[in-house]
Amino acid sequence: MSNTVQVIPLGGLGEFGMNCTAIRFGDSILLMDAGVMFPSGGLRGLGIDLITPNITFLKEHRDQLLAVFLTHGHEDHIGGLPYILDEIPVPVYGSRLSLGFVRKRLDERGLNSKKLTSIQAGETIEIGPFTVEPLSITHSFPDSFCYAIKTPAGVIIWTGDFKVELTPTDNRHSDLGRLAEYGDEGVLLLASDSTNADVAGLSPSEHATKEPLRALFRKSEGRIFLSCFSSSIHRIQVVVDLAAEFDRFVVPLGRSMLSNITIARELGCLKIAEEQIISHAQWEEFAPEKLVFLATGTQGEPRSAMNRLAFDQYRKITIRPGDTIILSARIIPGNERTVSGMIDCFYRSGATVYDSRTSEVHSSGHGYQADLKIMLNLTRPKFFVPIHGEYRQLAKHAALAKDQGLKNDQIHILESGQVLQLDETESSLGGNVVSGYRYIDSARRKEIDLAEIKERRYMSQDGVILITLNLKKKTPFLGIPPGVACKGVLSGTAKLKLEKNLVKQINRALDTFNREELADDDKLSKLIIHRVKIFLKKETGKRPLVVPLIQRM
Ligand SMILES: [Zn+2]
Ligand SMILES: [Zn+2]
Repeated sequence: MSNTVQVIPLGGLGEFGMNCTAIRFGDSILLMDAGVMFPSGGLRGLGIDLITPNITFLKEHRDQLLAVFLTHGHEDHIGGLPYILDEIPVPVYGSRLSLGFVRKRLDERGLNSKKLTSIQAGETIEIGPFTVEPLSITHSFPDSFCYAIKTPAGVIIWTGDFKVELTPTDNRHSDLGRLAEYGDEGVLLLASDSTNADVAGLSPSEHATKEPLRALFRKSEGRIFLSCFSSSIHRIQVVVDLAAEFDRFVVPLGRSMLSNITIARELGCLKIAEEQIISHAQWEEFAPEKLVFLATGTQGEPRSAMNRLAFDQYRKITIRPGDTIILSARIIPGNERTVSGMIDCFYRSGATVYDSRTSEVHSSGHGYQADLKIMLNLTRPKFFVPIHGEYRQLAKHAALAKDQGLKNDQIHILESGQVLQLDETESSLGGNVVSGYRYIDSARRKEIDLAEIKERRYMSQDGVILITLNLKKKTPFLGIPPGVACKGVLSGTAKLKLEKNLVKQINRALDTFNREELADDDKLSKLIIHRVKIFLKKETGKRPLVVPLIQRM
């Protein structure tokens, strides 16, 4: 295959979030999106709050990477960008609002944002062997793009996240006509959003949430606390409009809510009167029925405004009877228990809670089966790859494509790391590239390596044992006896007994080490860890983190 284009997903296929795919022709690569994934329970407990794609492949081909194209500004599409640009500073193209969100993140990390170029639907960008046309598409993020990427092998339609919204809140419609034109001219590959491929019918409009929300505004007599994703600008617009209608002021809570509202307002993507927003320092001056708080934390994220409110840890705001809590987002699989725990806390405080499981306070930004069929029918691609979704959703989307007349050999269900190659007539799998996760501790804005995660896990599961060895500097003999402190391993007399036994074990071990071993701190540490671990395994069945501290006197 000489005229071959490769599609190389680095994240987001077979998993939820972290959307990031390379499209490669010859020596030229375009990257479609660069998102993050939010870890659930276990990893969060270890202090990991973000997961970004492993970019070994991009680093190995850094000279070939021409640009990143962003479909829209949701975290699962842009959140990983700083961690890529940090190492490979390439140009980034996207809509004004998407780039507004990106710029904020880059500034926070002190990264250069000069290479951001805002583009508009309908223009074309020539870059290497590619010609890229952004097309207007509807999604829960304003100004979202679907891309038509012309390659020498044919046209790729990259939908990004989308739904067929016939009555968009901002009147910006999907360019279905242009998609049909591409369909008429011939589309080599359609890569289409699979998030809701297992839901029958046509996706409901964003307007569908407005009536149920209006009903809640009408019946709430006290304060309203509404949580949605801080990047769901359409939803925020709906809430802001209802607040105006019911004479309530809007109080943004949470850093990202505040900054996203500011950015979207500045760019004209959110319409709200200046005097309708009040800061969280001012709210006490207003009657409860005059307030709606817009808070981050629909998924119960530990440091989010909503979670802190639930656990009564938010400065000066205490939830009380009469308050109405609305969680206007879907609960991402894996977060159900955390969110339920948060809702319990709100009920304990006497508030009334509405969420997407009990009320119609959320409509998805992703197309259902009928939306997906419309996309397939308009573009009539030669080959099809379901993107954005866990494996069952990709499989379901593939089945829909078959219903629409595509044959097995025209459809490829890829997972992150798998390479698909296509030319005008055929498609095949072409091996794998390195893919996987980078774990980020966002407080430090830094990647955590696997060794550190392992250490955190041992500590959290089985505790830690600190051993202090005081050795003489010159003749490597013991000065004073070793000290042992067990934390989180055992308790009471069992702990004391274990510490005593460990001192004995360490003394015994030290007797068996030769002069050379005793003189080398590194070697000595390893030997002590080894001995102690064997002993602990036998005595307690536990594997705590063992930390020797060697001092030379
Ligand atoms: Zn999205
Ligand atoms: Zn997405």
